[in-house]
Amino acid sequence: MSDNNDKLIRQRRSLSLAAGFWLISAALFLMAVLGLGRLTFIDWRDLRRAEHAVVLIEQLRLGMISAEMASRERGPANGVLGADAPTPRALGHSLNEARLRTDQAYAAFAQALGQVSGDDRHQSIGRQVDGFQAALHQARLRVDALSAQPLARREPEAIKAAVDGMVRLVRMLRPSIMLVMEDLQQDQPLLSSTVSSALLAAELRELTGQLGSLLTPALSRQTALSDDERLAIERMRGRIGQLRVLLTARVHVANGASAVRHAQERLERDYFGRAEALVRQVVQAGQTDGRYGLSTAEFAARYVPDMNAIIDMRDALLAEALQQGAALHLAQRRAMAVMLGMTGLHIALIVLGLYLMHRRVIRPLSRAAEALQAMKEDRYVALVAPVQGDEISAVFDGIADLQAQSRDRRALEAERDKLIERLRVQSSTDFLTSLPNRRAFFEAAEAEVARARRHGFGLVVLLLDVDHFKRINDALGHAVGDLALVALTEVLRQSVRQGDIAARIGGEEFVLLLSHCEREDGLRFAERLRQTVASTVVEVGSEHPPVRMTVSIGLADTQTHGMNLDLLMSRADHAMYGAKRAGRDRIEVAGPA
Ligand code: GH3
Ligand code: MG
Ligand code: MG
Repeated sequence: MSDNNDKLIRQRRSLSLAAGFWLISAALFLMAVLGLGRLTFIDWRDLRRAEHAVVLIEQLRLGMISAEMASRERGPANGVLGADAPTPRALGHSLNEARLRTDQAYAAFAQALGQVSGDDRHQSIGRQVDGFQAALHQARLRVDALSAQPLARREPEAIKAAVDGMVRLVRMLRPSIMLVMEDLQQDQPLLSSTVSSALLAAELRELTGQLGSLLTPALSRQTALSDDERLAIERMRGRIGQLRVLLTARVHVANGASAVRHAQERLERDYFGRAEALVRQVVQAGQTDGRYGLSTAEFAARYVPDMNAIIDMRDALLAEALQQGAALHLAQRRAMAVMLGMTGLHIALIVLGLYLMHRRVIRPLSRAAEALQAMKEDRYVALVAPVQGDEISAVFDGIADLQAQSRDRRALEAERDKLIERLRVQSSTDFLTSLPNRRAFFEAAEAEVARARRHGFGLVVLLLDVDHFKRINDALGHAVGDLALVALTEVLRQSVRQGDIAARIGGEEFVLLLSHCEREDGLRFAERLRQTVASTVVEVGSEHPPVRMTVSIGLADTQTHGMNLDLLMSRADHAMYGAKRAGRDRIEVAGPA
């Protein structure tokens, strides 16, 4: 169970803290950038829409003016159609001026539409522009052709067709205007109510114009209205009434700006007050005897100026829409600025947080981990915390304490090991001669006996005791006795082969264990040794004469006594005492026990 836990922990650690930190940092940063980028993009798009809305409102305005001018052109066109050929100069002149105004207005509208991007729209708008221009040209040609003929030869149907051609022109503009209107509704639904009200006003202007045209023929005839004319006029007045209701409701709902309310008041007073009354009066006369009491021109002079209130209403609504658009744009720009500021701040905070986290936690922790790792290998890395007094600096202080303790412990351990080694050497070495002592000899000798037993080779034990050593001490002092012992040690060292063991096992008693050696060889070696010792002269300074020594040697061997160290030792000891008793400076070979 605990093994499994260890494994789990190790697996979880396989991703280092620093790597994990970088990974999460990158993910956090990416998420922030993506999320905030998306929000910023949405704001930017809304801003573009708000900008575009202003362009669209301008297009609508130009479209409505084009319709208005096309509609106005009907006045002088009707005038020319009603006058005998050749056309009076003043009439011709005002028709030309009206045509010029239509052309200019339409050129401006077409140009504004052409600025809109998008291939599909381009094509459809291009078709509509071409269609309108062709129709306009056609309608004017018809008017010109008719007006060139004498008045009496002009067929009523031909006149009606020419007038209808001009009326159709205004309707042809509607698709282009609706296309723009749709865009605006999509981009800025908030503006669509005001803009549709302006469209209603433009439509109202067109219908009131048509109403005037419907009254004109009877006025110029100065006869009562036909049934058809009455029906057409009532229908037109009904539609105008509907538009009035719609427009009023819209303006009320929209809680219109004061300029719009003003325009509406004027519209009620001028058109729906004065002009409406005039229409009522004409219709009433037309229903009875046809004595209108005013000519076409007089009617037009009173009726047309009051229609300007409708145009003013339309323009007031458009101005209001533009203002709303500008306000939206401004609000959008502010929102965008706030968004950008917050986005920047947000990303900056994330980066700052990650930077601080890395500088104050992640990097110091990695250093701490390295320092702890190094400590295992007896290397000590100095750690400086980025900030004093925080948790990380407490950790660093703790590590510094640990390092100091570890260093001290290492030093103590090294000293202890040295001491142990010294003690080990001392406990097995004789202080005066540096030969192995009695304990060390037995240890080494036991091992050698075991080896000999295993491999079946012979061993010889020689036990040496200095003869009458007490006398040297007594005569020359203990220090000279020491010198003599050191000199003897030197002789022993020189005599033994590698693998033999020489040791001091008592005051002036030494032992030699000769390896791979049989009794005869051991005896010869002992004899040589005895002679060497006897012939050695030990210089002990100028105060004393040189010292000479002899040794008595007891010999035991494994062939005779078996592979038993204690027995070998006791037999050699016995033999050595035999040598003493026999007169010293000799070798005694131990017999079988
Ligand atoms: P023998 O021929 O019977 O062995 O006579 P001996 O005098 O050598 O025998 P004994 O055992 O009576 O004396 C040994 C002497 O060795 C006694 C002691 O003072 C001396 N001795 C033992 N160890 C040391 C030492 O380390 N230094 C010196 N200078 N003398 C030592
Ligand atoms: Mg002795
Ligand atoms: Mg002795």
